[in-house]
Amino acid sequence: MTFTVRAPAKINLHLGVGAPREDGFHPLLTVYQAVGICDDVTASRSAGWSLGVSVPDWMDADLVPVTGDNIVDRAARLLADHHGIDAKAEVSIAKTIPIAGGMAGGSADAAAALVALDRLWGVETSDEDLLRIAAELGSDVPFALIGGTALGTGRGELVEPVADDETWWWVAVVNPEGMSTPAVYRHFDELNPDADPQPPDADDLLAAVAAGDVHGLAATLRNDLQEAAFDLRPDLSDVIDLGHREGALRGIVSGSGPTCVFLADSADSARAVATAFTEDGHDIVMVTHGPVAGAHVVTYV
Ligand code: ATP
Repeated sequence: MTFTVRAPAKINLHLGVGAPREDGFHPLLTVYQAVGICDDVTASRSAGWSLGVSVPDWMDADLVPVTGDNIVDRAARLLADHHGIDAKAEVSIAKTIPIAGGMAGGSADAAAALVALDRLWGVETSDEDLLRIAAELGSDVPFALIGGTALGTGRGELVEPVADDETWWWVAVVNPEGMSTPAVYRHFDELNPDADPQPPDADDLLAAVAAGDVHGLAATLRNDLQEAAFDLRPDLSDVIDLGHREGALRGIVSGSGPTCVFLADSADSARAVATAFTEDGHDIVMVTHGPVAGAHVVTYV
């Protein structure tokens, strides 16, 4: 039996960041949205453990660790330990989500691996246990399991679905050179030595989502890491400016960057904005939409 599980990239419609907690993590109040840029994880039976990665032409495969340090290795070990079994499987990751792009690609792979291995091993992990194991793997992994649009609190790992009946159109402008999430948070701390321990709320944005109001959503998008990302990579503010000139309702840095995402008022406008970026020499530009489903089985063979 072989299972292929697909898991989505995330964007943060709101990323409110508070002063670091005693454990070093930053308290977050975030609104996640899963978008249609996805990685697939395929797991089949095997006498041992192996992991392979395939990437599209524009991605550098060497940036993905495959020597036991991949987040999928850790996901397999945690799930196997939870059930007291050996982690045996042949696993491959087919990546599309930019690496170190602020779209939580590694977290998507971990979530997809948990679902694929749970099915392959027939261990029927409860939703509660799967979400707990996901949270141990990383702050964004529980969201990659549930998908849709969701409120994230704690360090982002406590997720609660948000009703969202709309289809929102996005353009993602990918930067070939990734950014380190810890470095961006460190710079946030330098820029905000007096940050409030309580991250800012997302009430206005949540009201715009509930009302299906694309202009309201554009006006309330917020990323507290954006200033730090601009400081570390000044070219990103030029990308945002170009999107605004070309008709996007609003552009923001995705998570810790460097991917920039632009909200458009229709599929056609999203395509027009994407074309403008391509003509400006940006090689990796994707039109996508959200919300989409969290990690789910796409094929059984
Ligand atoms: P974050 O969730 O911190 O916003 P990101 O989306 O910016 O992360 P990822 O693509 O998840 O970035 O990768 C961050 C780092 O994790 C990479 O630089 C890589 O070294 C490591 N990594 C481990 N496993 C994976 C994986 N399956 N795919 C991509 N990167 C991985």
